[in-house]
Amino acid sequence: MNEIVQKKELAPDIDEYVINAPLVASKCLPGQFVVLRLHEEGERIPITIADFDRDTGFLTLVIQEVGKTTMEMGTMKEGDVLSDVIGPLGRESRISKIGTMVAVGGGIGIPAVHPIARAFKEAGSAVISVLGARNKELLIWEERMRSFSDKISITTDDGSYGKKGFVTDALKELIDSGTKIDQVTAIGPAIMMKMVSEVTRPKGIKTVVSLNSLMLDATGMCGVCRVEVGGKTKFACVDGPEFDGHEVNFDILMSRLTMYLPEEKESVEAYKKKLSSGK
Ligand code: NAD
Repeated sequence: MNEIVQKKELAPDIDEYVINAPLVASKCLPGQFVVLRLHEEGERIPITIADFDRDTGFLTLVIQEVGKTTMEMGTMKEGDVLSDVIGPLGRESRISKIGTMVAVGGGIGIPAVHPIARAFKEAGSAVISVLGARNKELLIWEERMRSFSDKISITTDDGSYGKKGFVTDALKELIDSGTKIDQVTAIGPAIMMKMVSEVTRPKGIKTVVSLNSLMLDATGMCGVCRVEVGGKTKFACVDGPEFDGHEVNFDILMSRLTMYLPEEKESVEAYKKKLSSGK
């Protein structure tokens, strides 16, 4: 159990892992996440489930090397075993047959929105995908999203692929074209989810976001992942991760996300030092 059965580099510092986790794969639903621990002394990291296969018992996770633990994960190979894959955690997405669902995925948020968008399609909704990345090289899982999307729009910040601009530009264009949208689900950096919510707010379009707050125990006990939604404190791990984007206080979320940056930087430096000394 918890063996990495397949590992594939999608882009620089972004890897796709297929992990043998049959107990999680048998129960997980779109929108849920797992907490990984690489080894007995490892920290706990929450990762959104990008795909699952109940028959094989495999989970697919896409991980970007952004901190000490994800960098350490980057050194793991096929055949290596993770100490813990805890889950499925969080509430599942509310899926139903609606007219048109727009899935907005930014960067590493694209694999996270993938199972949700696919489930809306399977429920009989039309799905329009709006995907964005900084550049062509960082645009991941386009083909997977394309495979079930009725329509797809791609943006890159630098214009190296698709239209130049942010996902919000493509979303605005879609709304301005008169397309009737029943729900937007947006996953990506907090600033993107905030701006998507601002684009849909004046039109009253239901907007669901998946919050990537800092998280520790992920079972509702420690409160590290607290977020303000509709003026009330909620825990992203058990009340979320999905919330109404029009109710989320993104400014608090973004400020809490940077709270431990000096410590995170220190931890990365110490890890790099350890690697270079070979200990
Ligand atoms: P990124 O910075 O490369 O941005 C991706 C895209 O988001 C951009 O190409 C752009 O289209 C859009 N965007 C960025 N800033 C914007 C702005 N000001 N206005 C409008 N659109 C904007 O993203 P990344 O480096 O791949 O980071 C992805 C983020 O997604 C991480 O912060 C990660 O924590 C988060 N994430 C969240 C979940 C979840 O379940 N909540 C899952 C995976 C990743």
